[in-house]
This record gives sequence, structure tokens and C-alpha cells, in this order.
Amino acid sequence: MSSTRSSYEAGKVEIARQRAWAERDAFATPAPAGDRPAVYIKPSSPFTSGKLHMGHVRDYAIGDAYARFRRARGDAVLFGFGFDAFGLPAEMAAIERKVPPADWVERCGERMLEQMRRLGFSFDYERVFYSSDEAQYRWSQWLFVTLLEAGLIYRDDTTVDWCDHCRTTLAALQVEDGRCWRCHNEVRLIRRPTWFLRITPYLEENDRRLAELEDWDEISLSTQRYILGRSDGVEVDLTGPGGAGLAAFTPHAASVAEASFVLLSPRHPELEGWATEPAVREQLDDLRSGGWERSARDAKSVPLIDTGSSATAPWNDDAALPVLVSPLVDARYGPTAALGIPSVDEADAKIAARAPRVGEGAPSGAGSGEPEARPAVRYRAADFSISRQRFWGTPIPIVHCDACGAVPVPEADLPVALPRDIEPTGEGNPLAERADFVEVACPRCGEPARRETDTLDCHFDALWLWVPSAVPPEARAESMFDHPDLRHWLPSERLVAGSDSGGFVFDQRVVTKALRDIGPFAFLEQGEPFSGCLFHEMVIADGRKMSKHLGNVVDPDELVEQYGADTVRLAILYAAGPAKTLNWNDGALRFASRFLHNVWVYSQERFASASKAPEDAEAADDTEFLRERLRKWCDNGLERVTADLEELQMHKAVRNVTRLFERIQDFEKRIVKRRGGLSRADAEAQAAALVLLAQALAPFAPHIAEALLLEAGFEDGADLVGAWPVHLVLPGPAGASAAAR
Ligand SMILES: [Zn+2]
Ligand SMILES: [Zn+2]
Repeated sequence: MSSTRSSYEAGKVEIARQRAWAERDAFATPAPAGDRPAVYIKPSSPFTSGKLHMGHVRDYAIGDAYARFRRARGDAVLFGFGFDAFGLPAEMAAIERKVPPADWVERCGERMLEQMRRLGFSFDYERVFYSSDEAQYRWSQWLFVTLLEAGLIYRDDTTVDWCDHCRTTLAALQVEDGRCWRCHNEVRLIRRPTWFLRITPYLEENDRRLAELEDWDEISLSTQRYILGRSDGVEVDLTGPGGAGLAAFTPHAASVAEASFVLLSPRHPELEGWATEPAVREQLDDLRSGGWERSARDAKSVPLIDTGSSATAPWNDDAALPVLVSPLVDARYGPTAALGIPSVDEADAKIAARAPRVGEGAPSGAGSGEPEARPAVRYRAADFSISRQRFWGTPIPIVHCDACGAVPVPEADLPVALPRDIEPTGEGNPLAERADFVEVACPRCGEPARRETDTLDCHFDALWLWVPSAVPPEARAESMFDHPDLRHWLPSERLVAGSDSGGFVFDQRVVTKALRDIGPFAFLEQGEPFSGCLFHEMVIADGRKMSKHLGNVVDPDELVEQYGADTVRLAILYAAGPAKTLNWNDGALRFASRFLHNVWVYSQERFASASKAPEDAEAADDTEFLRERLRKWCDNGLERVTADLEELQMHKAVRNVTRLFERIQDFEKRIVKRRGGLSRADAEAQAAALVLLAQALAPFAPHIAEALLLEAGFEDGADLVGAWPVHLVLPGPAGASAAAR
């Protein structure tokens, strides 16, 4: 039908298809309706860095192939994302360029969206959002107040790095060799009140639910287990001087009788009762303000304090076990108390060697009684701080009043808006210096009070960044966590994210359970945000992580310019399975490029010549068994590609598509060998097979696939690619055209 049959010009083909998609709003999310399966595919939320990297391309190519496949199957697909736009990297970049972060973020986001469109990713772009938009962070503030009222957020002291010169606290990222990133002066640690998210009430459930997450791949599950840091063991009751009880844990159930000391976490809730001596308290204060979070974690050098108190071990003739304090406990079992058993535990032996009291007359395990031990579990995962002394973040909706204390801002007064016109310099906290921001009346008593000037770490925004896509943009200002569409789309059918997202996902699972118990997510009985999850490894080059410093950064824009989006997508999917680190090289690119060129030229020629092949009933009879074989090849190939797509194993799916193409070529070779050429029946069967090949290729290389279908005589429009094929339907004897429908 076309007279422009030619070699494959990817750029031309792709721009034309992208224009057609934009014109017909091809990726708009369908309205929730009836029994049609609703599939919400959640890709990772990029930082607004201004540039897509190859890891993004990998992430979105996998998600996009899956989204296109599910659409072709007739499912209602929501494929949307938002930018994780608050945070330090954006603030630092804005400081460097002397622009307000809001402007910088907008510019970067637009640029990245342009790159995504050029790569042909089928997001619902209308639903894209920025976590730094007022309409978004208003809900981050709502979430903060809601969790605070449920007792899941609290305020406590923590140590932070402080630069005297810049008069600001610093993030770990901003401290280089103990010096400030900005002024290079030495940094010191200070204690200051910080907001914490309480995750401990949900650790046990996050653990238990892992067994139910059938559509989670092994990497994603193992990151959840790693973050939990579960230890199985036993718990025994000890008694203190004033009769106070202490439950101590050990993973060495068989050796409890050999315990010779107790090690307490500096975060243990009952620590004060054991550390009564003023000198000991002083040491504890030093330990806490000394930033032990950053200090050595090995048993030889980790801070260690002897409280001077002892706990009584009733099973061992009331032997006295010295009570020591060390953050080593946190690193192993969380904020708990642990039995020290040097005879079986290497770390305990090292601690014992450093504690003079333990050495003297330690119990030998020759006691008369049996320890009363009960099975117990400990988790290393602990509450974490969510507030930062930074400008570019969600303002914490709290007002500090002398009379009323920390008062949450009422929901009707949200959002507490972040001033958009501030250009942070890196010096001081610009919010604290804005009287129009800080000075406010107390929402409770009306007296003059001060706004909280800390902002929320972007990790807090990320707790719910998987929610907004499921709410129509026009409704988000009014309704979010209670929007009826959430019942339709949640839980997300599949999260596709990098293998370093485990921490985010873990905390998202905690918050989903909290919101289930509080009410809005009561419909999510399991409290899980993602029913399926695929984690992929990163993309490296020359065996090393890509970095500007090493000069080995692969720029997706340059590749798209040179080879086209389809080739880049196909190459990155083909090069490695998601569980493998992808060591980028040109081999996959050359393979993908050659394959698409071949499919393009070969298919176009066959589509054009099929109707010109001679009708020959005798020949058709003679080759019927070969057409039958072609049908089987197609059906088997499709079955494999379908199964691979269902499991998001795109490298296998692409391989099976390339094999199918080989088979279709092989069919022709066999016919030519047998009869010298193709009769009309053979040519039409082959054209039908090539149509099916294009349909199977569409999730991975959508532009060329659609262009080929147009060449085959299909009409441009919403169902150009058509339903996901199941069988090759051979053209009927009436001479119906294979290609046209
Ligand atoms: Zn400084
Ligand atoms: Zn007040």
C-alpha cells in the first residue's frame, strides 16, 4: 500500500508515531468501570535531576512493556508516576546556580518528561505530579498530622552534624571527611529535637505478610528481609536491684545458662533505671551526643559503658550479670537488651574482653536451675528521623506555643505553604529567618507562637508517592486518601523499581498498614501497597558504576539520536534479566539495531508482495503441512512471549520474539526449496505471521511495530495494535487478505 518502502529510519518512524499517540491521547487512564481488571503499574519516582540515566531507561522500558502488554490484553491500565522533587540534591543544585529551587525543579522535570516522551514511554502524562507542588505536599502534611495523632510520629533528641560557620545542620551527604561541603570548615555534632516515624508496631506484620506476597520477585523479598533484620531466639526474665524486671534476648537458645553479662541498647526504654550513677549518666550523655550512629559498629571499637548495675539470673544461683550499654545491640537486634554469652558468640567474647567486671568471676553455667526461656524474635529495623533543618522540603505543620506545646495545624489551615521566592544560600535556615513564615498565632489558644521551621525529609513524601497517580488530577486538591478511585486501583498490581528501593518500599508497607488501621485504607485488608513487585539491578559500564568522575556515563539522548528509541529500549531489555546488573555495551545495541532493520525490510517486502503471489491450488495443497507447521511455531512462540511478559522477564520475551522471526523466515526458505516460490496461500500465511510478529514486538519496540501494522494495511487509531494475539489465524480459502481486517 505504501510507496515509501525504504530502509529503516527510526527517527522519522518514531516521531510520527509519537505525534499520533499525542493526538489521540493514547495513554489516558480509563475511568474505573465494571469487571474489567484494573492494573496499576508503578514505576520508580525519579528525583528531578534534570537528566534520565540508563537506570531510568531500564526501569521504564520494563514497566512500559508490561503496561502495553496489559492494555493489549484488554485490561484497564494506569501507568503513572510523580517526581520526588523535594530534597537536598535539588536544593544544592539550586544554590550552585543561584535560582529558587522551585524554578530549578520545574525546569528539570520538564526536560525529563521530554526525554520520556521521546523514548515512547506510555505514561499517563496528565497524571504526572511533583511532590513539591502545594496540592501534593498539603497531603504530606495531612499524613504527618494523621500519623502524629495516631502516636506513630514523635519528637525526640538526636545528634546532627552542625557547621558553625554556615550556621546550619548538615546532611550526611554534605559532610566530607568531617568537613562542611560548602565552607570546608570542621563540622561538629550537636543534639537537637527531631521528629521520628515509629515503624516498630508494624515490623512483625511486615515480616509475616512476606509469605503472602506471591508476585514479588526474589530480590524484592530479600531486601525486605534484610531491612527487617530478624533474629530468632529466646527471651529470659532478669531482676534488677530494686526488683525491676528486664527481658533479655539471645539467639543462642541452648546456651542461656552460660550468659555472663547483659548488653543494653542506648535506646532501651528502661535504660535510666539501670544507669543511676551520675558518672555513668554523664558517659551516656557523651555517647548519645557523640553521634554513635556514625561510629564503628564492630565489637572491638564500638562504644561500651559499664552501668555498674547487675541483673540477677535466677537460673544460676542468682548470679549477678553485669549490665553494660552499647549501640552494638542496635546494630544486631534493635533497641533491646541482649544476653552476653562469650562462650558461643564471637562479638560477645570481644565485648567481655573489654569489660573488667565481666572477666571477674563470670558464671560458668554450673548453676542449679534451668533458665525459663520463651521463644522470641527481635528486629533490627528501628524508628527513624523524618525531619531536616533544610529549606527545600514539606513544611512540618506544627506550631510551637509556650502554653500549649507542639500543636498540629488544623486540617482546614493546610497547606502550610513553603515560600516560593527564597533562594537558599546554604547558610543558616532561610525559613527560620522569615518572620512572615515563623510568627503565627497558636491554633489552640490564639497567643503568639512560632512555626516549626524544620521540613520533612523527602523520604517522608515518598511514603505515599505511590498514591496520587490513582486519583484524577482535578480531584487531588479536595480529596486524596479517601478518593473512591483508590479502591479501584489499589493495591498497585506491580511496582517496578531499582533494587536500592527496598527501604522506601518497606516504609511504604508500614504506612499502608497504619492508614488501614486508622481508617482511610481499611479496604486494603493486608495493608500492602503493591501486590506484585519487580526489582531490577542497576546499569553499569565497563564493569563499573557510571559516573562523571570515571567518564563512563552513557547518555540515553545520544543513543536515541543515533539509533532510535526502539533500538535503545529493545537493547536494554534484551541485554540482561532484571535480577542481573546490566554491564552496558554496544553489542546489545548492535544486535537490536540489526534485528529491527531486518524485520522492517523483510516485513514490508512481504506485505507488499503477498497479494501478488500466484493462486495455485495444487501448490497450496502441497505446502499445507508447512503452513500448519508455521501456525504451530507461531502459537508456541506466542505462548512463550506471553508467559515471559506475565513475569516481566523481558529479556526472555525479546529473545523469543527474535526466534519467532527466524521461524517465519525459515518457513519461506523451506517453501522455496520445495517449490521454488510462494503461492498465494503461503504468502498470505506468512504475512499473517508477520502481523502477529509485529503485535508481539509492540510492547518492546512500539513505534516500529505500529508502523509495520500500518504497512500491512491496518488503520491508524486506538486499536491499531489490536488485542494481544493468541493464535495465528491462517487466511481462509476464500482468499481473504491476511493483512487487512
Ligand atoms: Zn560550612
Ligand atoms: Zn497555645
